[in-house]
Amino acid sequence: MGENTVSFWNKTAKADHYPRLDKNLICDVLIIGGGITGVTTAYCLAQKGEKPVLIEAGCLCDGTTGNTTGKVTIQHDIIYSNILKKHGRSFAKAYADSQTEALEFVRRQVRDLSIDCQLMESPAYIYAQNGEERDAIIKEYQTAKDLGIDAFFVDAPTFPPGGCGMVGFHGQLSFHAVRYVSALADAAVKMGARIYCDTKAVRLADDGEIKTVLCENDITIEAKHLVMATQYPFYDGPNLFFTRLYAKRAYGIALEAKRDWPEGNYINAGQPSRSIRTHVEGGKKILIVVGEGHPTGRGAENEKTHFDNLRRFAEQIAGVDNVLATWSAQDYETPDQIPYIGRISDHSTIYVGTGYGKWGLSSGTLAGMLLADLITTGSCPYEAVYSRKRPDYSTSLGKTIAEVTLPVVELVKSKIEPTEPVAGIRQGEGRVIRFEGQRAGIYRDFDDTVTILDISCTHMSTTLNFNEAEKTWDCPAHGGRYSVDGKLLEGPPKHSLKVLFQGKYEEIAVRVEEENA
Ligand SMILES: Cc1cc2nc3c(=O)[nH]c(=O)nc-3n(C[C@H](O)[C@H](O)[C@H](O)COP(=O)(O)OP(=O)(O)OC[C@H]3O[C@@H](n4cnc5c(N)ncnc54)[C@H](O)[C@@H]3O)c2cc1C
Repeated sequence: MGENTVSFWNKTAKADHYPRLDKNLICDVLIIGGGITGVTTAYCLAQKGEKPVLIEAGCLCDGTTGNTTGKVTIQHDIIYSNILKKHGRSFAKAYADSQTEALEFVRRQVRDLSIDCQLMESPAYIYAQNGEERDAIIKEYQTAKDLGIDAFFVDAPTFPPGGCGMVGFHGQLSFHAVRYVSALADAAVKMGARIYCDTKAVRLADDGEIKTVLCENDITIEAKHLVMATQYPFYDGPNLFFTRLYAKRAYGIALEAKRDWPEGNYINAGQPSRSIRTHVEGGKKILIVVGEGHPTGRGAENEKTHFDNLRRFAEQIAGVDNVLATWSAQDYETPDQIPYIGRISDHSTIYVGTGYGKWGLSSGTLAGMLLADLITTGSCPYEAVYSRKRPDYSTSLGKTIAEVTLPVVELVKSKIEPTEPVAGIRQGEGRVIRFEGQRAGIYRDFDDTVTILDISCTHMSTTLNFNEAEKTWDCPAHGGRYSVDGKLLEGPPKHSLKVLFQGKYEEIAVRVEEENA
């Protein structure tokens, strides 16, 4: 992550750090991933008397959970009218009911455990900015009412500016996710769960009854049940998840504003995405604006543009007094907007919770609740809704074709796009160059160290793009991301990048230009 891109949540709280696992283990349930999905699963299992083990590659909330907007809502963009059209009424109702259960679970834990996570209750709104969007949100409002959701329609909203109709859901929540998850982890440990940080899983052998996970430090863990709470599933099994999960990045900004604004959670119905919420920290009202979503590796040429656009938007709605934090993160979408929660194949005791489409604070909570049931009783409510076996192809054929073929287009395009010269590369800049006859990525650090990497993604060989804002190399095909030193950060790849050269700028500039002359 770039030094200026630490989320407001990670700046204002740090989840407890648990020790690294340093000896082999045998357990009933192993959970990989310490975000809201993994920690909620551990907590729910511990509540049922299990003693789960959770391993996390870094610290708890290092992933998207620490980089979110913090809304806990059953309003997931325009979704109910889409689910109704594709899967029918009872399916749409089950989706609404299940998400409501997740929201109530959060409310209950905050109350029962007295979690100090600034939980706020307010309506959540989707607003339209043109006639077409207005028609879509009227349809969403009618569907929501029909499903029993406490929805209302605002014909002429005064906030956010430019809105021409808004659907609101009463009783929705927002919170400080890092504080919430940290407290839940603490409670799980008190009930007998074991958590290990700095413990990265690198390989899995599935011998049916027993799953053996090899960790980076050569430690092995044997478990009867394995939960993949790693966002992109750590193990694909028979699902070819990379064809069904689309990585999308988004950007966030937290600020003190010049003018007051009405509380509530807002999101626009159109593009570019704009999500707004209020947070209160130390008695001060903070404005959170998140948006500029795009497929990973395919953002603006200079990713800083995304932050500038969010700042301009914040200026328009409330005036910017003091920017407190800027950050970005990614999440995965499925073709029909519904997550995958459950077993990875029939009768398997490997489970997954993923594809939350930027609504994982409720869906990740739900995954924890459902997976704990599934593991302890063999079944869980809403299994069919979140099953990987539902017909999940998109309601739009165009969208399906675009999503499935785009990675291939990106792969081909990435191999033929022209390379750039090394000369003139600025500190903090990354470029695609030619080095020893192959495409490579060069990054010049602020102390003039340059690192040249083989930037063929270790997942499926797509050439990576440099992400200027985060100082990372991002894959435009399936969302794999690497640091400027080549270290794997997230996504479907399993391996880091090969470092081709590391040294001082003067040394390499002459060598590469001579080679390419
Ligand atoms: C900008 C943005 C804003 C969002 N805002 C909202 C919102 O307002 N409301 C909402 O509901 N949702 C929101 N979301 C989505 C939500 O934040 C995510 O869906 C959710 O946090 C995902 O949680 P998770 O636990 O599944 O994954 P993560 O939080 O990413 O946790 C996965 C963890 O697994 C670890 N891990 C990965 N691989 C391994 C391995 N091999 N071994 C060990 N550990 C590993 C990672 O280090 C990470 O900590 C937003 C998403 C984005 C991108």
